[in-house]
Amino acid sequence: LFAGDCSFIKGAVKLDQLPDMAGVEIAFAGRSNVGKSSLVNGLTGRKTLAKVSNTPGRTQELNFFRIGSKLTLVDMPGYGFASAPEAKVRAWTKLVFEYLRGRPTLARVYVLIDGRHGLKTTDLPVLDMLDKAAVSYQIVLTKADKLKPGEHEERLAGVQDAIKKRPAAFPDVIFTSSEKGDGLPELKAAIARLIAE
Ligand code: GDP
Repeated sequence: LFAGDCSFIKGAVKLDQLPDMAGVEIAFAGRSNVGKSSLVNGLTGRKTLAKVSNTPGRTQELNFFRIGSKLTLVDMPGYGFASAPEAKVRAWTKLVFEYLRGRPTLARVYVLIDGRHGLKTTDLPVLDMLDKAAVSYQIVLTKADKLKPGEHEERLAGVQDAIKKRPAAFPDVIFTSSEKGDGLPELKAAIARLIAE
């Protein structure tokens, strides 16, 4: 699945700039610095793929990548900047919510959460938005290698408990490390199942 060609399609800052729908679409969301670029690069094996989305100061865009013939991967703009101006937060919310509501090919959003910290209050509006848009989402914990042995279980249980009443949340939470490769086969398998559906 991830072995095929991958190419950048386009960045969209407005709804009328979204590329044509093709195949199954999956999107990655998370606070800035959560490890989103590293994870996307780890999944695709392309070191430069998500770099385009990660340039500081760049306008916040939805970045679309085509992977092989069946998959479109969307890198959503990071959120949770400590000092983001309100207008920027509003623009983010508008773009993301409109995209979530109007994209039937979007099969799932992977919401990345730093495994060291678990869910933070800045993540909650994003989960609320996904629940409201009724878009299936799955939590992926990042930076597993930064936790001590034995801490993972407790973090997983805490996050699973926090999402259990959320209507659009997929109950399984995946712990990953882009550094060590933990959880990447599991995440790839989950994505492959979406395509097979
Ligand atoms: P983004 O802003 O969400 O795209 O985050 P990046 O992928 O750029 O990662 C932010 C920082 O976290 C960088 O310094 C990465 O090297 C580091 N990082 C990302 N993933 C991991 C991981 O699995 N383990 C460790 N130890 N560090 C990571």
